[in-house]
Amino acid sequence: MPRYQDSPPDHPHFAAVSSDCADLGKALHTYEVPQQTSTFALECAVLHRTLIDGNVTRHPESHFLDFVIDGESLSARMSASGDLVTPLNRAWLPTVPDAIDELLGRRPSPGLAVSRVALLVCGDCGDLGCGAVTASVHMDADSVRWADFLWENSYSEPSPAVSAPEAIVFRRGDYEATLRGAYERIVALPYD
Ligand SMILES: [Zn+2]
Repeated sequence: MPRYQDSPPDHPHFAAVSSDCADLGKALHTYEVPQQTSTFALECAVLHRTLIDGNVTRHPESHFLDFVIDGESLSARMSASGDLVTPLNRAWLPTVPDAIDELLGRRPSPGLAVSRVALLVCGDCGDLGCGAVTASVHMDADSVRWADFLWENSYSEPSPAVSAPEAIVFRRGDYEATLRGAYERIVALPYD
C-alpha cells in the first residue's frame, strides 16, 4: 500500500549542512522533513459500458482524462469493479469547468464536506449517489496534497477507499498547469 512512500526522500537540506558548528545548528533548526512528491498527469482513457435499452444492447464509450500518478492510473488502482471514471469526462462537458475548479480548491464540491472533492465517480452518470472515491484537497504555497481517501455516497457513512494511499503530494505548479490545460483536451475527446 505505501506505494508512494517507498522511495527514500531527498535530503537537500541535509546535504547542504557544512561541518561548521554554527552552520550546523542553523541548518538543523530550519530542517524540514522533505515531502515525497508524485507526478501528476492526465491521460486519455475510455470506459466501455453496456446499456440495455429495451431489446437493444448498446456499448457506449465514456471518454475521460484519467489521473495518472507516478505513471499509474488512479482509476485502475482504485476502481475495484472497473466502472469508475474521473469527473473530467467528455459526456459531462458543461460541468467540467466546475470539476476543474473543485480540484484546484477554488469552489466547494456539492454534496461533500468542505475541502473534499470527488476523484472517481460512476461511469454511467457521475452521480455521487452511485458512490464515489473522494479525497481532501489541501493546497499550500508549493504543494497540493490529496489525503483521507474515502468511498462516499449520499446516503450512508463514508468508508475508507480500497487500495488508497495515505496521501499524495504534488508540486502545485505542475498540478495547476496540468489542470489548466484539461478543458481543451476534453473538448477534443470523442463523444458517444
Ligand atoms: Zn451512476
